[in-house]
Amino acid sequence: MIRFNKILKRTAGTILLAALFSSSIISTSKAEEESGPAFAPPVSKTTVPEIGPGMSLRSNCVVVLDPGHGKTEGHYSGCHFDYNGTTYYEDIITMKIANYTKEYLEQNSNYTVYLTKDSSEVTVPLDQRAAFAASVRADLFVSLHVDSIAGNGTTRNAYGASSMSPRTGRFHNDIAIQSQEAANTILNQLTGLGLHNRGLILQDSKNGTLYPDGSTADYYAIPRYSQMYGLRGFIIEHGYINCISDLTGFLSTDEQLKKLGEADAKGIIEYLNKAGKSTFVPDGNSSQTPPTN
Ligand SMILES: [Zn+2]
Repeated sequence: MIRFNKILKRTAGTILLAALFSSSIISTSKAEEESGPAFAPPVSKTTVPEIGPGMSLRSNCVVVLDPGHGKTEGHYSGCHFDYNGTTYYEDIITMKIANYTKEYLEQNSNYTVYLTKDSSEVTVPLDQRAAFAASVRADLFVSLHVDSIAGNGTTRNAYGASSMSPRTGRFHNDIAIQSQEAANTILNQLTGLGLHNRGLILQDSKNGTLYPDGSTADYYAIPRYSQMYGLRGFIIEHGYINCISDLTGFLSTDEQLKKLGEADAKGIIEYLNKAGKSTFVPDGNSSQTPPTN
């Protein structure tokens, strides 16, 4: 049974990647957290993998981990930092954290875990990452990132972990409340390792984008798409790559990244144990183009 599940999971991932390679890959800026079209595509059988036969998605908790960034046009698209002769790349760090998180979660048979991509050498458009999470009806969709500050390390007043989450009191308010709770649970696990907790970063659309109910859309792409799909979804920033203490204390060795990945997993487990599966089922029409002003 375990073997069968693994095969199915691999098949789903392969189908996803095949679908993505056949579509145009948009280039992502360094500030990937912010980019992407206003809204993600509707859940569609032509753009996202089918839920395969035998995948009992509604009995297990489904977690989709999204390793931020990836190579585009031959270059890593995330942030990077040179320190003591080594260049550290966000793209590689997020992929490693995601794999450690997945590994930890899969020690527990109650979780079905998917990654939105398999390698730091490729990227995937943000809207398609969210569409994938919706297609497998994720109970939690967590996009993994590492922060950076302008000034290439000369400014060291920013450090610690944070989460870009959806604001409450908007479209799918219950889901936003749950997303914030889940994000805070993960942040608490990360701060247990010694990372400073910068809390939730909630930001409104800067160009007047509205949700279908007329409320102001969230600025960051992943929480915005998650709201559209009705997914519990948010970004977790695992410290600053160009803050020396964050880099050397949490981001520079595989052992440190494993601790971050396991802390993410423990937060995910703690939240899902308490909250259970998401009761919201994306209806496939939740991503229609809304009025924008
Ligand atoms: Zn990032």
